[in-house]
Amino acid sequence: MSDASSQKLKLVFVSTEVTPWSKVGGLGDVIGALPVAMAARGHSVMTVAPSPLTHRASREAHGSLGSGQWPALGSAEALSSPRSSLQEALAAGGMQDAGGDGAPGSHSQPSGAANSLMSPFVRYFWVRQDGVDRVFVDHPCYADTTDIYGTGNVNTYVESGEFPDLDLRYSILCQAALAAPHLLWPRKQAHAFAAQLSAGLQGSRVAFCIHNLAYQGTYPLEAFKRLCLPQRALPALLWPPVPGVGLEQQEALRGAGGMVYAGEACEVAPHEPPSLNWMHAALSESDAVFTVSPNYAQEIRLDPDMACQMQDLLQRKGVRGIMNGIDTTEWDPATDPHLPEVARYTPATAVLGKAAAKAVLQAKFGLLQALDVPLIGLIGRLTEQKGVDVVLSAVPALLGPARRAALAATYGAGPNPALSTAPEMQMVMLGTGEAWMEAALEGLQASFPGSAVGLTYFDEAAAHLIMAASDFILVPSRFEPCGLVAECAVRYGAVPIVAPVGGLKDLVTPEVGYLTERIGDKRDPNQHRIAVASLYSTVMQAVKEYGTPRFQQLQQNCMALDVSWDKPAAEWEQALLQMMQQQ
Ligand code: ADP
Repeated sequence: MSDASSQKLKLVFVSTEVTPWSKVGGLGDVIGALPVAMAARGHSVMTVAPSPLTHRASREAHGSLGSGQWPALGSAEALSSPRSSLQEALAAGGMQDAGGDGAPGSHSQPSGAANSLMSPFVRYFWVRQDGVDRVFVDHPCYADTTDIYGTGNVNTYVESGEFPDLDLRYSILCQAALAAPHLLWPRKQAHAFAAQLSAGLQGSRVAFCIHNLAYQGTYPLEAFKRLCLPQRALPALLWPPVPGVGLEQQEALRGAGGMVYAGEACEVAPHEPPSLNWMHAALSESDAVFTVSPNYAQEIRLDPDMACQMQDLLQRKGVRGIMNGIDTTEWDPATDPHLPEVARYTPATAVLGKAAAKAVLQAKFGLLQALDVPLIGLIGRLTEQKGVDVVLSAVPALLGPARRAALAATYGAGPNPALSTAPEMQMVMLGTGEAWMEAALEGLQASFPGSAVGLTYFDEAAAHLIMAASDFILVPSRFEPCGLVAECAVRYGAVPIVAPVGGLKDLVTPEVGYLTERIGDKRDPNQHRIAVASLYSTVMQAVKEYGTPRFQQLQQNCMALDVSWDKPAAEWEQALLQMMQQQ
């Protein structure tokens, strides 16, 4: 939405996470900080996300958050339009109403019971902070998952790895998000809510930002009916696209009243029936497509391995990469409340400050107290995307005395100059994710006592301490849309060691860090060996330079980089104004 005369925009960010109320990864960080930067530029800004009172990531991070802090914005009665859609959706989903009355405000604390999904009401909480209207959508459907992406919800897990009712949860978020601006920013001239809703949508534009093309949101075709969308919305959702029906033809068909593809498509391609793909729909239907770094924008347009089958569409549509920033108030080693005062530092005091942080970390997590031993940190979701499997394969060879023992076991204990000159290092890894990786992290301390520790929980304070204490931060991702961990690292003078992909390649030049080779496919043993060897030699090179003038220069160069939202917010503003002017 925009007020063209003043070039001021009305921006609504819709997202599943929003830091500091909820966070699983970088998306939460972005929706926490970019809106504040846009509001500071004079725009009216709102974020809409699921209520942080319900899903797990938020509960862990903000266990003490009480609903009393959240003034209610609108009652469910005001939401005549979303309410009826929700009722239809729930009925189409085939769920049984076990008698919940669903009255406004009646579910003050969602019970988590399966039948609570039946509630046809949403409730909003709202708070205005740093110039941004933060709106939270409360619905019982957010209560019975362990986090907003359904991870760990064994009751609904299906073989495909998807969760059958996740789409319903996101659909409820979207419907509620459509209504939220009209409740909070009412137009004086409109009297009825429904009139406001349709009047308000006219002239609005949708910018879709890809935070990770690999997570596309695919659901069975039958799930379409519970989304309560008009039939003409179906073609854009279909994946794979029906053979012979291009985007333009689909649009023409839609213009002619729409059609149902299911029967036909199954006949045409019985082994590959189309499913619903939300990413495909978003890319097709939005007015402009963005992503979170220039290099990732290039990769997903040009590299079939990175494009996740969306290459044609992305090339046709175009995609613009705007590098994410980070919240430089939250991530500021000079004032970081997660650090003891003695461990806070500026670029001028980084050597002392980081040494103090290292001492704290070593004591806290059971590493040997040794300030001159380089410390390598890793923070992130434990997935193949992040190359954690490669790190784990390289660990035995990397770790000091343990390294020598491992090499001796492999190559025999005979004279080998490499063994005696190997610099030692310590490693600390923080992350949650795949079970086998969590188990491997948990075993690190026993295998490499005093040299390595793995922490398998989500802990904001630990993440900050690791950034401050580490000399190097490892991000050897197979693909990485932006890589906020590396941006936080440079802010804390932790020199990044990264794979040259996505936003990591935009950020990390040889003047600020180290680059491995691209990390290949894990399933190909040869590629895995090459990746481990490249990681090993890059880390060894970095560790060899630790403490030298070059290392000190790298550290200073890192801390001098501007990773704030100032420039990206200006770029977003210009891009969004441009989008609004397009016919
Ligand atoms: P992605 O968005 O793919 O998860 P990013 O590197 O862009 O990756 O962002 C990850 C964000 O999540 C960073 O702010 C990082 O510090 C944080 N993070 C990831 N795992 C944890 C964890 N276990 N504890 C605390 N913070 C974490």
